[in-house]
Amino acid sequence: MALPVFKTACRAAKPSGVGSTPTRFRHGDALTFALAIHGGAWNIPDGAVDAHRHGLVKPLTEGFDALRKGASALDVVEFAVRLLENDTAFNAGRGAHLNSAGELEMDASIMEGTTRRAGAVAAISGVRHPVSVARGVMEESPHVLLVGPGAKRFAKRAGAEMCTTRSLLVGRELERWTRIRAGERGLVTTEFSPHAKPHGTVGAVALDRFGRVAAATSTGGTQDKAPGRVGDSAIVGSGTYADDRRGAASCTGWGEPILRAVLAKTAVDALASGRGPAAASRAALRELARLSGFGGVILVDKGGRAGASFNTPRMARGLADSRGLAVMVERKERWL
Ligand code: ASP
Repeated sequence: MALPVFKTACRAAKPSGVGSTPTRFRHGDALTFALAIHGGAWNIPDGAVDAHRHGLVKPLTEGFDALRKGASALDVVEFAVRLLENDTAFNAGRGAHLNSAGELEMDASIMEGTTRRAGAVAAISGVRHPVSVARGVMEESPHVLLVGPGAKRFAKRAGAEMCTTRSLLVGRELERWTRIRAGERGLVTTEFSPHAKPHGTVGAVALDRFGRVAAATSTGGTQDKAPGRVGDSAIVGSGTYADDRRGAASCTGWGEPILRAVLAKTAVDALASGRGPAAASRAALRELARLSGFGGVILVDKGGRAGASFNTPRMARGLADSRGLAVMVERKERWL
């Protein structure tokens, strides 16, 4: 059984189907589509800003182009997150943080908004693309969330790309872990305040030309987390949410408050009151701030608009809709 790993996006002139949703549009239908991606909201250091910016360009431009050509929102969010998982600038896939035991445990989730199917993996190791394993869970298992060794066994059986921890581990993370173990202070913080240390989950949300939305999120979690810790990125409703009637959201930041705020669902719900993605994501962030949480959220709505908000010093984000494309990291960079 092959894992249906990103088969069509970006080379698809023909969109792939999702469930029983019609994939043909009628003459005269509005051709609206939008994409938003993120590479984490935290105190991104000056020296890492260019790498973050650069890392967003290809997933955003190629993902948006695939949407233009008719690819499905689901294929495009998986495609974009796979590219971000490959990029060592981000804390997902290659470049993910080690946990306190020196293991690399990753979380990911994916959701489509038409029938609201979802798949997720948590504390999974030894896979190259956790987001694709999450999609496999959604499409090839009766479950929504698989964790730890069970998730890894599923990935192997489903034909996912397996790999060693060593091949995902980059020098930066090994060095951080070694310094933490040596007792160096100040390398780990429990929150994402201006003083917080590295994080950088990745995510994508899309609306395709057929009115379908999808969301995906992938992370190595928080630096020096306890073995077995699961953050928001694996949890549908908290890190990832999609509903064709409203829109789709992917979150990043300090996972524990995001979990308690059910942030992705809160953001999508905020679209219901007629707000656009910018205002709705701001409303969701206010809710997070009430729990003293720090982070960011990206959103697309049914009307084909993309937006993002964050309450950390910086957030790596890329937005693309009919108004144009932009990749941003700084707070002062505003999009339209
Ligand atoms: N939200 C992620 C977690 O808590 C971390 C991040 O977004 O950087 O696992």
